[in-house]
Amino acid sequence: MSRSSRKENLFDVLIIGAGFAGIYMLKKCHEMGLRARILEAAPDVGGTWFWNRYPGARCDVESLEYSYSFSDELQREWVWPERYSAQKDIQRYIRHVAEKFSLLDDIQFNTRVVEAHYKEDQRQWHIKCHDGASFIGTFCIMATGCLSSTHMPDIAGIEGFSGSFYHTGQWPESEPDFSGMRVGVIGTGSSAVQLIPIIARQCRHLYVFQRTANFVVPAHNRQLDPDVEAAHKANYPERRRQSRQTPFCIGGHPAPAHYAHEASAEERNLMYEKKWQTGGAISYLYSYKELLVDPEANETAGSFVRQKIRSIVRDPRTAEDLCPNDHYIGTKRLCLGDDYYETYNRDNVTLVNIRTSPIRQVTSNGIVTDDDDYQLDAMILATGFDAMTGSLFAIDIRGRGSAALREKWRYGPLTYLGLMTAGFPNLFFVAGSGSPSVKTNMVCAIEQHVEWISGCIQHMMANRLAEISCSEDAERKWTDHVAEVGNATLYPTAKSWYSGDNIPGKSRVFTPYVGGLDVYRKKCDDVASSGYTGFRFIGSEDRRLREGFFEVSE
Ligand code: NAP
Repeated sequence: MSRSSRKENLFDVLIIGAGFAGIYMLKKCHEMGLRARILEAAPDVGGTWFWNRYPGARCDVESLEYSYSFSDELQREWVWPERYSAQKDIQRYIRHVAEKFSLLDDIQFNTRVVEAHYKEDQRQWHIKCHDGASFIGTFCIMATGCLSSTHMPDIAGIEGFSGSFYHTGQWPESEPDFSGMRVGVIGTGSSAVQLIPIIARQCRHLYVFQRTANFVVPAHNRQLDPDVEAAHKANYPERRRQSRQTPFCIGGHPAPAHYAHEASAEERNLMYEKKWQTGGAISYLYSYKELLVDPEANETAGSFVRQKIRSIVRDPRTAEDLCPNDHYIGTKRLCLGDDYYETYNRDNVTLVNIRTSPIRQVTSNGIVTDDDDYQLDAMILATGFDAMTGSLFAIDIRGRGSAALREKWRYGPLTYLGLMTAGFPNLFFVAGSGSPSVKTNMVCAIEQHVEWISGCIQHMMANRLAEISCSEDAERKWTDHVAEVGNATLYPTAKSWYSGDNIPGKSRVFTPYVGGLDVYRKKCDDVASSGYTGFRFIGSEDRRLREGFFEVSE
């Protein structure tokens, strides 16, 4: 332990958030002998997996891949019940990790950070929480998640609804019962796609208010076959190594070998049918090499799904309304669902097209559209998140000269490698804008970032360096590069939360780095091994820092 533990609220590292990122960061801090504390708004670990406990919540990356790889003992001992893990199993897993590695004592729950200010003269971050508690840390690590700040739509009258009211991203622990109720769901993204089939089976009538139709491919979730699990675990480290060599850090999906435009229509249909039967979003988009860069090729994959919708959904008008027609498949998050389209064949389910008949207002007992009046006992908002930056902007983050991050990023995030932003020393972001983050296996992205940050801190300890920041030049070049790589794909053509389109007034910037986690990892490693090119360090010649690496003033 470093010598900074003299005062209760003084830490070497303050970590905001106890999801996958914060938990692993804390473990690394323990390994490095640093005094660290996680500040977490929720009453438990889990991050986005704590809050998103709506019925049907489930990961769309397979369980054996969507898990930590840092401990072989952990990955061998943990038993995942299903191919795609339910929220409750992921939550149980994160809790298990926190207990196994004795992390809970260093997590302060029910503590929402509202302010993080860098004091240049002390080279420390001063953190304030909602209840007035304050903390000081040499480093501040934002492990705040990309999908943590819920988006409440501004619909006239919504606050006056007198029935039960929920948001998928803030679901209560009480497991509400919808039996006998008329329920309205607003939104048809990934959360709604998972929730709708389950609520439809419980309630009297379900009205789905859809503004934009999304592509949904089957998950084919099932119990995890013990033989499959045993075979995977027998060779786990090698499988992880192979996954890390892929852009999405997910094994078992070899990169496509062929181009769609070289295949005949019949061959393409056979390929898409095979992928449809296998299940999985990455598998489907990995049918052909150019699906995410070539509009014509993409259209072959999109029109296959439209044909499926028309063949599954019996009412032709509902089927047409469910057919996406305003974006290329995969450019918005490709939804995974089981029984999604089939659910619209139920007598107690009505799709309401609010693109053609917009919501005028919410009344105390329902929703009024241009064409009709829907009486509801319960309303569920599946309206998503102020993604990527929302949870950062919820905190008043100020760097050198009291510059506000919200101001600096007003026209979009500016980062170097997604890890730091100029003018905010000793502040790291984990798996957010400017890095592969949501466009790869998030747990892999987190592990890579946490390990890089830990390596950097170790480098600073070894060399008695007190402060790190990135240069504006490196930041500008990297941000341009992220945009250039994104613009070479079809991703930015879609109106999506990846680009901030879902939040009124938010600057439109496609922020994830889509060059692949494999390529990105190498870039980060090269930067570190070349002496941290693009970063600038200040030594600990300061009197207060001479005694020990993170010695802090009192
Ligand atoms: P989302 O994809 O952003 O979907 C939000 C939905 O709400 C959209 O259909 C949107 O319509 C609609 N909406 C928003 N504001 C509205 C308004 N004012 N009026 C009417 N409709 C409105 O959010 P999400 O479904 O919560 O998913 C977010 C992300 O979380 C996913 O993309 C995924 O990355 C992650 N997620 C993953 C899983 C999984 O692993 N399986 C599950 C759930 C979520 P428009 O499209 O017209 O804006």
